[in-house]
Amino acid sequence: MELNKYIDKFKKTETPFYFYDIDLLKQTFKEAQQHSQVIPNAMVHFAMKANSNASILSYVHQAGFGIDAVSGGEIQRAVELGFCGDRIVFAGVGKTDKEILIGLDNDILCFNVESIPEIEVINELAKERGKTARLAIRVNPNIDAHTHKNITTGLEENKFGIALEDLIPTIRMIQELSNVEYYGLHFHIGSQILDMECFKALSLKVNDIQESLEALHIQTNSINIGGGLGIDYNHPQEKPIADFKSYFNIFKDYLKLRPHQSFHCELGRALTAQYGALITRVIFVKKAKVKQFAIVDAGFSDLIRPSLYQSYHKAVNLTSNKPEEKYDLVGPICESTDVFGENVSLPQTQRGDIIALLSGGAYGHVMASQYNCRPLIREITSEQL
Ligand SMILES: *Cc1c(COP(=O)(O)O)cnc(C)c1O
Repeated sequence: MELNKYIDKFKKTETPFYFYDIDLLKQTFKEAQQHSQVIPNAMVHFAMKANSNASILSYVHQAGFGIDAVSGGEIQRAVELGFCGDRIVFAGVGKTDKEILIGLDNDILCFNVESIPEIEVINELAKERGKTARLAIRVNPNIDAHTHKNITTGLEENKFGIALEDLIPTIRMIQELSNVEYYGLHFHIGSQILDMECFKALSLKVNDIQESLEALHIQTNSINIGGGLGIDYNHPQEKPIADFKSYFNIFKDYLKLRPHQSFHCELGRALTAQYGALITRVIFVKKAKVKQFAIVDAGFSDLIRPSLYQSYHKAVNLTSNKPEEKYDLVGPICESTDVFGENVSLPQTQRGDIIALLSGGAYGHVMASQYNCRPLIREITSEQL
């Protein structure tokens, strides 16, 4: 991400704000789109919970991607921004009646369902609407994604999905109901996955499941392998684009799709994290007995990932090139967890310096709050700056 060319504009802009580099966005989408073509009938869905900014979503639309929604609000927003229902899939363990109706009224491609009571309610509501809802069953494949415990989703102990042994009875149950149809299988084993072996293990598991369903003459129309492709938070400038090539090739090599089947994936952070940065100003540098603090004007109300799951966002000082020193980089919020990093090496930093926290384009602004009556942080693209 080329930030230096924007420094003068950053200096003139009120901080903090999220900055999105549209050149890098276009390059990222292009690579994802190109590499996905190795799989026939592939549809890339953008998990819009990662970033629901209207400009970003307009580029998602232009790239021809679909949407993975996890709430009725996301479906509505996607439809308002021009996405057709048949490009939207809807996941979530706790869909309310209102949200299910939003999905039905917009004729979404499918509901990714996670429990028996949910299937019964969708059937009832679809009957009221005189429609038949397509259902993909989210199967919990019990695969360890070797990622942080707060972001694994595919283990038996997680709240997500239907256990493998319940899959066939669940399909049989769907077949008994009048206003739902079994459409496909859905998986999502976790986030920030960098070990491609996890996706290979998932592919092999899906192959086994497919064989057992075929033996019972159950037809599966779509295979959705979820999201979770990770990015390089440690080297965002050197490696700004996720390894889409390895990701799609793993599925090409190991996942046995049938000719009539469509392939879906739901990429979130891999599509948006690296072209976003949180731009913040140093308010004070405070020298304490054992350490020094660089206190910036952004806090965890603007970027909560470090406080929520100890995630690392690389910090760069865009306005100093002096020798490096160590700082605790902290926000102004009255909570001790309002820390972006401890012992961060930064060039000697002073009041007024502009700091960029990198890899901020996913799960950044969407998780922002107004805690402490702080204004909701703004988002500015390179085209708007
Ligand atoms: C969050 C989520 C994703 C996207 O996850 P990333 O790690 O950002 O790729 C995809 N699918 C579902 C169902 C999700 O909940």
